[in-house]
Amino acid sequence: MISTEGIVLKQIKTGEDRRIVVLFTEKLGKISAGSNTTYHMKSKSSAILHPFSYGKYTLYKGKGIFNINYGETIKSFYKIGENIEKYAYCSYILEFTERILAENQRDPYLFELLVDFLEIIENRNKKYLPIIRAYEIKSLIHLGMIPQLNECVRCGNKEIGVSFSIEEGGLICKECYNNNMLIYNLSHSIIEVMNYIINNPIKKLEKLFIDDKVIELLNAFMKRYLEYHLDLEKMKSIDFINACSISD
Ligand SMILES: [Zn+2]
Repeated sequence: MISTEGIVLKQIKTGEDRRIVVLFTEKLGKISAGSNTTYHMKSKSSAILHPFSYGKYTLYKGKGIFNINYGETIKSFYKIGENIEKYAYCSYILEFTERILAENQRDPYLFELLVDFLEIIENRNKKYLPIIRAYEIKSLIHLGMIPQLNECVRCGNKEIGVSFSIEEGGLICKECYNNNMLIYNLSHSIIEVMNYIINNPIKKLEKLFIDDKVIELLNAFMKRYLEYHLDLEKMKSIDFINACSISD
């Protein structure tokens, strides 16, 4: 038996009363766990198994798979489900998080980042994209995937312009630049915003608002960057955002 806090990233119905949830746990990292919805749940509802649920779970390992023996809500983030935009963006973040997490690998930093993120979005009433971008940037940095903005990613030269190498994940100086590179030209305003995000904890970004033009540029850049590194094209939640034609 192990007791741990966790956030439900995904739920799959596998039978009338049977669910498999992908759970991001504090102690075990990302795991899949089965559960029967009809018993063992103190809350008497299956809300504890819904995506976005943040709870305390008691797990035991059966034949190779975890089972949820008991679950108790810490926070349901129910307000996220009451607003279609919040819901769509948060669904995307859950899917994004599921993609970047390795199985069974503890990651307290990302766990806390996700809890903080959900809290901020739940309490925010408009302009969600700056927080979405902040979450992506912070998690990519944590995983060492992005981006070097203070010096040339190749040689460390401090004299850098705005040419960003998509493959190498950082700004590139004049000497290292060549025509065969996949270059994305950033603007100084994007670099400034990204540095601000990098240098502040997400809780301090709660009130972050970014100029419409700058966020548009940042959206385009992040899309391009993530497509190259994470194969986001196949993500269901992105189709959902597009289908709702959300523009924030
Ligand atoms: Zn260089």
